[in-house]
Amino acid sequence: MSSGPWAKTAVPPAHSLACGDFPLISFPMGRTVVVLGGGISGLAASYYLSRAPCPPKVVLVEGSKRLGGWIRSIRGPDGAIFELGPRGIRPAGVLGAQTLLLVSELGLDSEVLPVRGDHPAAQNRFLYVGGALHPLPTGLRGLLRPSPPFSKPLFWAGLRDLTKPRGKEPDETVHSFTQRRLGPEVASLAMDSLCRGVFAGNSHELSIRSCFPSLFQAEQSHRSVILGLLLGAGQKPQPDSALIRQARAERWSQWSLRGGLEMLPQAFESHLTSSGVHVLRDQPVYGLSLQAEGHWKVCLGDSSLEADHVISAIPASELSKLLPADAAPLAHVLSTITAVSVAVVNLQYQGANLPVQGFGHLVPSSEDPVVLGIVYDSVAFPEQDGSSPGLRVTVMMGGSWLHTLEASGCALSQELFLQQAQEAVATQLGLKEQPSHCLVHLHKNCIPQYTLGHWQKMESAMQFLAAQRLPLTLAGASYDGVAVNDCIESGRQAAVRILGTERNS
Ligand SMILES: Cc1cc2nc3c(=O)[nH]c(=O)nc-3n(C[C@H](O)[C@H](O)[C@H](O)COP(=O)(O)OP(=O)(O)OC[C@H]3O[C@@H](n4cnc5c(N)ncnc54)[C@H](O)[C@@H]3O)c2cc1C
Repeated sequence: MSSGPWAKTAVPPAHSLACGDFPLISFPMGRTVVVLGGGISGLAASYYLSRAPCPPKVVLVEGSKRLGGWIRSIRGPDGAIFELGPRGIRPAGVLGAQTLLLVSELGLDSEVLPVRGDHPAAQNRFLYVGGALHPLPTGLRGLLRPSPPFSKPLFWAGLRDLTKPRGKEPDETVHSFTQRRLGPEVASLAMDSLCRGVFAGNSHELSIRSCFPSLFQAEQSHRSVILGLLLGAGQKPQPDSALIRQARAERWSQWSLRGGLEMLPQAFESHLTSSGVHVLRDQPVYGLSLQAEGHWKVCLGDSSLEADHVISAIPASELSKLLPADAAPLAHVLSTITAVSVAVVNLQYQGANLPVQGFGHLVPSSEDPVVLGIVYDSVAFPEQDGSSPGLRVTVMMGGSWLHTLEASGCALSQELFLQQAQEAVATQLGLKEQPSHCLVHLHKNCIPQYTLGHWQKMESAMQFLAAQRLPLTLAGASYDGVAVNDCIESGRQAAVRILGTERNS
């Protein structure tokens, strides 16, 4: 760690508090906000705090050696980009526009790689069912035509939705909701696959209200999902910029960055360090305790920090282990927000061709318990193929198969995941040759699961924070959306709340 006002000091300044035998890390006088976790949520929270007209002191504490959390891009020997985590960000809606605005503020406009609306990766997505790839129907004509693997045109599922009464439950599993409104095939093929693709989760356990709030709200407000989605919730004010207008005009379905999505956390870091945010890496937080004056003591390995307010952007279950005994009810709720693991295998092939062109395909659990889906990276972002252009695909594996393996305690080897991935690519895409390059990673507990009743957990956490007037704000993928856009918004909201509190205090 560098020297300067935030270097470790053995002589606590007047405003610091004793911290056992550990020295305090001291900061200049003024309100201090400590942000836990340097993933995209913590970076966004720190960024929006730092941009306030009169910003507080901000300290971002990351436990590992690098920033970015699950966002990680690795360059192969020929310069090709392999994404280990997210690979595309959606520009749609207010949150999509907000992220594009951020991209411009961080000076990344010229690095953006869009997938335009007329591109095959924007138009074609597939389901792998019955040993074959099936394009998902698009447009009105697609809904009227027979579209295997569905036994009837999806028009009938739409008609069912229009005639069904509104549900009465405050929450429902994704499977039960979809089966009730759109029928058993849409539930067991389409929504089962979507839950696996987005959450690596089980549609019989995930909550419709928390995982797909727009579908839940559509039914609540218009009795029908289709009517609700068509009529919408009214126009919300959207940010505006040249990049946002371009994305709208060209109907982008998603975008990445030339050097991979990790350019985003890297740009955040440059901005934060140049605007006076203290970024501590390789400093896991071991505990939080509340001092008599209402300040937090944030315990690091061999030192501690003092904070007027803490934003937690680490996983809920991690935070639950750090909270003091007084916050046991909150810790209990947070410990029930669990996450699942995903094995990610990036493969590159020389001289190979895909049987179809599109974004990728998803696999329902009834077809294959192992593979969640395969992304055809080279179709969406050929610019990232490197100098000896090879075909890049990513196989995502998880679900109950991985859960059972993890629970059994058996050794999870890279060879096992690579073998499963190669088998899947051979069977599902006909790529039987040896890959020229491969990367295998097991991401443990990487995707939070919003199971049935997640909204009640959120309510009780918020009520506890408000009732106890704890200077703690929750942000990150554990709470209100796992997509990168949602995480950035959670960081922004956390900053807005604190800045609002500051103005009012
Ligand atoms: C394989 C995969 C593919 C995905 N694909 C997409 C996609 O295509 N599009 C999309 O929009 N989203 C995608 N997502 C989701 C999205 O990437 C994540 O939800 C998001 O990056 C989570 O960000 P976060 O900052 O909330 O959490 P994290 O990335 O988990 O960051 C939390 C940080 O906190 C740190 N930390 C934890 N404990 C401590 C501690 N005690 N002290 C200090 N630091 C600590 C961790 O080291 C980490 O850096 C994907 C996710 C995965 C895993």
